[in-house]
Amino acid sequence: MTLLYEGKAKSVYETDDKNVLSIEYKDEVTAGNGEKHDFIPGKGHLNNIISAALFERLHAFGIPSHFIAKTGEASQLVKRVDIIPLEVVVRNTAAGNIVKRLGVTEGEVFETPLVEFYLKEDSLNDPIVTEDHIKLLGHGTDSNVAELKEKALAVNEVLTGIMNKMNLTLVDFKIEFGRDVEGNILLADEISPDTCRLWDKDTNENFDKDVYRNDTGSLIDTYNKFYNKLEGI
Ligand code: 5GP
Repeated sequence: MTLLYEGKAKSVYETDDKNVLSIEYKDEVTAGNGEKHDFIPGKGHLNNIISAALFERLHAFGIPSHFIAKTGEASQLVKRVDIIPLEVVVRNTAAGNIVKRLGVTEGEVFETPLVEFYLKEDSLNDPIVTEDHIKLLGHGTDSNVAELKEKALAVNEVLTGIMNKMNLTLVDFKIEFGRDVEGNILLADEISPDTCRLWDKDTNENFDKDVYRNDTGSLIDTYNKFYNKLEGI
């Protein structure tokens, strides 16, 4: 298979079908735009099975994505899309970047979910962008931005329901979208504890990558516990 793209956590390959790609989740983890970097055997497998399970559940709730099928320990087939270079972040509770940026109190629950856009550009440290910036950079029209917002909020509603059943608070998450061959905007990339902030409702324990970012626990044990909870609901 021809390697199309290699990122920090995944490699993307072409397949015999020009409209289908294969994603290989890597046993690598980074934080702080690559400042922290480790090889963790088993991580790729966990991210693959968790992301597949979450995309399947979203499908069941009428939310389509690029996901087609899991094909191996750490690989899955997806529809080919051109990734829109924006990170769409939805926040239900204050944590992370918004606490540093706006001085809101960590743990404050927002009256309505916030949607933010960041430019996916490591060399610029993924800056936050406004709708006007998105238009200026040619990444989407007003109506595209409205569609991204609407889709992100729909994902938030379904994911929040899933996490509630697991006794977890969906604090925030990052998703990415792509355009398929017909130009439709489709949910893409991955959804996993790498891309979400999840707090145990009773203990506030982290069920996400913050255990790695903040050195507070074992990433593999945390992701395994998350997967077992997900399979249990
Ligand atoms: P924050 O902006 O507070 O750092 O992150 C908000 C949410 O988006 C968190 O759940 C975080 O995991 C996710 N997120 C933001 N940027 C990235 C990124 O570049 N990679 C990953 N994996 N997740 C991100």
